[in-house]
Amino acid sequence: MATSKLTIVVPAYNEEEVLTSSVQKLLAVEDQIAAQTMLGQRADILIVDDGSKDHTWEIIENLHATNSRVRGLRFSRNFGHQSALIAGMSEAVKTADMIVTIDADLQDDPDKIVDMVDAYADGADIVYGVRNNRETDSWFKRTTAQGYYKTLKLLGVELVPNHADFRLMSKRAVETFLQYPERNIFIRGLIPKLGFKTAEVFYKRTPRMAGESKYPLKKMLAFAWDGITSLTIAPVRLILILGTLSCLLAVGMVIYAIVMKTLGLTVHGWSSLMVSLWFVGGVQMISLGVIGEYIGKLTTEVKHRPRYTVQTILD
Ligand code: UDP
Ligand code: MG
Repeated sequence: MATSKLTIVVPAYNEEEVLTSSVQKLLAVEDQIAAQTMLGQRADILIVDDGSKDHTWEIIENLHATNSRVRGLRFSRNFGHQSALIAGMSEAVKTADMIVTIDADLQDDPDKIVDMVDAYADGADIVYGVRNNRETDSWFKRTTAQGYYKTLKLLGVELVPNHADFRLMSKRAVETFLQYPERNIFIRGLIPKLGFKTAEVFYKRTPRMAGESKYPLKKMLAFAWDGITSLTIAPVRLILILGTLSCLLAVGMVIYAIVMKTLGLTVHGWSSLMVSLWFVGGVQMISLGVIGEYIGKLTTEVKHRPRYTVQTILD
């Protein structure tokens, strides 16, 4: 098999404490892959500096000066993890045949990249890194993450459980992904929509080796909200369902009010008030839901997602 080029994309925001050792480790993993397989003989690393305020960029410059296999891309300010990943993939796909994305702190086991490349060699276009456990997470992070993914599932969003942004993608998978031009983006929710053959590689996530999380609660909440609003219009449907339920309740109220009135248990005006309350409320909710449906359609339209992706043509 012809040799393919592997690029490892690493987003980095204020990662001066870990970057040098992480890059050494990733270079060693690439050397191991090159030694073991014909695949990935040419391999490099692309670090995306997401507007770091510490010495991250100087470190990238130094690494690049001593080893041309280390490349760098610097944002003008902090644009966020997902944007850094997209920028890295867009740049890497120009020359690479397969692209791995991994966090700079190497909490996701870099040795598993070897297995990912194996799965690619076996024909997978997308290889998900999947965590075996969440033991290393705090109780808070574990419960909120699991609750969140359950909610998304209820809303009809299919995600790969316990997978974040540690994955390998083939050139064509990345090119297809980049055809999704939306701004409001939750990468891990889009990848399963691409199709192609997928595989999973399991690993144990370790605690961050140095520095602290670059995802404080505020960023995490914003990210979670982006996930819901960019992947599903189910909340709008909920309004419609609630409105319909409210109207049905109004019918129940009519019967209840008639019974109560016949039994003489009501004060004057109560029956008509109760019935109108539920009915008017329901009509308003349904109207909002209908408007919501159209806004939902607009949301889908403005994303300009590809209608389909062709895998093979025989002609
Ligand atoms: N990161 C980034 N931009 C940001 C925040 C984080 O590029 O605004 C990078 C960060 O350098 C790391 C990855 O995203 O490579 C994941 O961040 P972190 O490890 O702090 O998140 P956690 O593992 O705590 O969820
Ligand atoms: Mg981390």
